[in-house]
Amino acid sequence: MADRLDLDDPVATVPGVASRRATTLRSQFGIETVRDLIEHYPRRYEDLGELVPLDLATVGEPVTLVGTVVQWTQRQPTSKRTGRRLTISEATVRDGTGTPFAVTFFNQDWRPRRHPPGTVATFSGTLERRHGQPQLVMPDVHDLGRDGRTGDVHHRRLVPVYPATEAVPSWRMQGWIDAALDRLPEVDDFLPDDLRDQLGLMPLDTAVRAIHSPPDHRAAAAARRRIVFDELFTLQVGLHWRRVRLEAGRAGMDNGPTPDGRASRFLDALGFTPTAAQQRATCEVGADLAADRPMHRLLQGDVGSGKTLVATWTMLCAVDNGRQAVLMAPTEVLAVQHQRTLTDQLAPLGVNVLDGIRLELLTSATPTAAKRRILAELLSGTTDIVVGTHALLEEGVRFADLGVVVIDEQHRFGVHQRVSLREKATDHAAAPDVLVMTATPIPRSLALTLFGDLDVTVLDELPPGRQEVVTQVITSDQTGRRERLYAFVREQAARGRQTYVVCPLVEGSEDVAARAAEDEYIRLRDTVFADLRVGLVHGRMRGDDKDAAMSAFRRGELDVLVATTVVEVGVDVPSATVMIVEDADRFGISQLHQLRGRIGRGADRSYCVLFAGRPGEELTDEARTRLEAVALTHDGFALAEVDLELRGEGQLFGSRQSGMPDLKLARLADDLEVVVHCRQLAGELVTADPDLAAPRLAGLRAEVRRRYRGGLEQLEALATG
Ligand code: ADP
Ligand code: MG
Repeated sequence: MADRLDLDDPVATVPGVASRRATTLRSQFGIETVRDLIEHYPRRYEDLGELVPLDLATVGEPVTLVGTVVQWTQRQPTSKRTGRRLTISEATVRDGTGTPFAVTFFNQDWRPRRHPPGTVATFSGTLERRHGQPQLVMPDVHDLGRDGRTGDVHHRRLVPVYPATEAVPSWRMQGWIDAALDRLPEVDDFLPDDLRDQLGLMPLDTAVRAIHSPPDHRAAAAARRRIVFDELFTLQVGLHWRRVRLEAGRAGMDNGPTPDGRASRFLDALGFTPTAAQQRATCEVGADLAADRPMHRLLQGDVGSGKTLVATWTMLCAVDNGRQAVLMAPTEVLAVQHQRTLTDQLAPLGVNVLDGIRLELLTSATPTAAKRRILAELLSGTTDIVVGTHALLEEGVRFADLGVVVIDEQHRFGVHQRVSLREKATDHAAAPDVLVMTATPIPRSLALTLFGDLDVTVLDELPPGRQEVVTQVITSDQTGRRERLYAFVREQAARGRQTYVVCPLVEGSEDVAARAAEDEYIRLRDTVFADLRVGLVHGRMRGDDKDAAMSAFRRGELDVLVATTVVEVGVDVPSATVMIVEDADRFGISQLHQLRGRIGRGADRSYCVLFAGRPGEELTDEARTRLEAVALTHDGFALAEVDLELRGEGQLFGSRQSGMPDLKLARLADDLEVVVHCRQLAGELVTADPDLAAPRLAGLRAEVRRRYRGGLEQLEALATG
């Protein structure tokens, strides 16, 4: 058969997809192959079986009607109320029985072009009656096709609704997908039959066809279940496989807590009691440290939950076992801050004195001579703990006996960096214990997916005595409030408290963002706060200028710091009590939450003000929900759930970057149970057969490799190279 298609054929080989269309499919949907097209899944189904015939529908009730557009008329009367010109577009539509009804739109003069005469569509709205004729005003419209080219639309009960654009409406997508499925031979099932049957899943070929044209809702749900399972299961198998590969049979080290060691003396010397969550974390980490297999643990905790304490304790366990520890942070500022915190916290044990802890800082700013000394002392084993940035990953950094690796803000580093830092150990027989930390709360379903190869500990409790930051949203129509806020900033400054002004997130380059921050800085310094000390920090400044500004702010030599999002992570200034975020509606939920975490770190009440919207521009519902959520709660995990709900996994995942397979149908916000189940199943499978060598797993192995697009091989090369 000449016109049989293969999944890997270019999409242009599908009948009806001309080369120009193929270009559109690629640019608008990322669809390049037949497989991509088939994996463009319906968002929902329009249930034509539930439609009420027009003559049975009740005026004043919501209805969905299906019909064919007969003609359009357009008028442009002048509104009596506003005096503005109005465009009214009105279509005459006939339903299946030929009964006509009117469909009316205001100020959407593109409507006749979008649904020209001959368009078959569903119209959902409230039924009205005008001059005796049924009418829908501003209904939701879903095009089903064009008259004569609608295929079997009218015989189908469930019509798929695809993510679509103006250039590629859903019905056109449906036509191409149908054409492709017609010419596609049976899709091989990569799941072993026994596993599939045991889980009660549909065969893959059935699922692929049923998801696009299900006979009924049950079949649609079963097809979805199969495809979601495939996405999450192959992802988890890959993660577990990778973990096994990376460990490559290497033993762990015993870095377990020792009685009366420095780790426990450190806890005793603290001026406070660890929270229950911190105690639980040290127990979990302690068990990992002592175990035979290397630790790979993620420590998740909201800003201020006290992750540093757990990290310090973990590193001291390595030192108590005669080994070294390393702490890597994503920026210079954070590395310096960690080093300062460690120096303070470890003071009771003695730092860089005889019999004390030997602590060093290594960044790209470290002078050459100092760097040479530090490298030598790391290699000789003199240094116990080193804190640093990416500079730690450099070739010349080698350890005598590396026991513990801690990585802060792990999402800013890739798995490669996590691995290569671990490979710094001189002795390759055993692998160091790795603790990664993140202050970005992630919903459990996402954490288990993104970090399926890590065990997860959550610090779900803040130390006592923390005050919630009072958070307010001010919209652009609330004039006068800005002046009152500036007066409040001045009042706070008079009491020795400080304010961050966070500049809007600017689309495009870092340069544009920097310029926006500079403009705001000049405006505040020269006019609004001419009587205060105002500073500036942004990503385009030289490293030492940036540090100088941050340090001045920390020492209280500045009242107001104008900043871009460079203040987002980790910086700790207890006397900063006010944060003003400009154009807050441009920020994501977790970003706002992170920013807000920069204040409320001392004993004083703190205030966060989110300016939203620009004059004459309505806030979208989505933006409103985001801002209200942030104002309403401080629970980072609750906010993360809202974020996942609003944005879906696509953006959170950044899967192209992380080298992980795409999730096209799975919705992590809804599919937690499947995630947990797949993770467990994958773990068991890989533990029993680490190479997936059994013949029944050959298909699965190939499928996992395909979905990871080479991501697994790269890591293997790294682990063995
Ligand atoms: P995170 O890194 O999770 O944002 P930190 O480790 O920086 O949080 O801790 C924030 C602040 O809380 C620090 O000043 C720290 O000393 C303090 N802290 C940590 N744990 C406790 C505790 N159990 N009780 C009181 N204060 C604590
Ligand atoms: Mg921290």
